[in-house]
Amino acid sequence: MIFAHDTEHALAVVVDLINTGPAASGTERLDGLPALRDFVRRNAFSGVTALTAADLDHVRDLRDRFHAVFSAPGVPAAVTLVNAVIGAVRATPRLTDHDGYDWHVHFFAPGAPMGEHLAADCGMALAYVVAAGELDRLRVCAAPGCARVLVDLSRNRCRRYCDSRTCGNRMHVAAYRARRREAGESDPADAGAPAG
Ligand SMILES: [Zn+2]
Ligand SMILES: [Zn+2]
Repeated sequence: MIFAHDTEHALAVVVDLINTGPAASGTERLDGLPALRDFVRRNAFSGVTALTAADLDHVRDLRDRFHAVFSAPGVPAAVTLVNAVIGAVRATPRLTDHDGYDWHVHFFAPGAPMGEHLAADCGMALAYVVAAGELDRLRVCAAPGCARVLVDLSRNRCRRYCDSRTCGNRMHVAAYRARRREAGESDPADAGAPAG
C-alpha cells in the first residue's frame, strides 16, 4: 500500500468523480440527483443523508477543482489548487472505525452536506499526495483519445491506463508482456510471427 487505506479510498472516489465529467469521459454522467445518489452508493459514503440540487452543483464544482490538480503543471500549481479546496471547508478531524474499517481519520464534520464531505476528505487525500512528493501518481490515461484520469498506486509506478473496459485491457496486456520480458521469455505475439 502506497498511502493509508482511507487516503487510497478517497483517491479512488476522486478518480470516479472526475471520470463522471464531460472533460474526462465526453459526457455528463452526473446529470441529476439519481446519478449523484448512485455515486454516493457505489463509493460507500458514510453519513450522507438527503441530497439536493445544491449538493449536485457543489459536487460538480469540486469535480472541476480536483480535475485541475491532475493536470497541474507542477507542485506549486497543485498546492494552490488543493489549498483552495481544503482552505474553504469546515473540517472536523476525528478518528472513526465505522463499518468494520480499522481506525482512520475523517475530516468532514458530522452531518456535513455532501460537498463539504467530499472537499474535506478528498481534498485532504490530495494534500497528502502532494505532501508525500507523489503528485506524479495522479495521471491522465495514456491511451489515445482517452482523457479519463487514474491514480497509479503500483509500487513501480508503471500504470499508464485508466480502468475503463478498453484501456484497462491494454493495461493488462502491457503488464503481461512486461512480466514475460522480466522472466526472460519471448513474447508469444513475436513468436507467432512468420520467419523471414
Ligand atoms: Zn471512513
Ligand atoms: Zn483510458
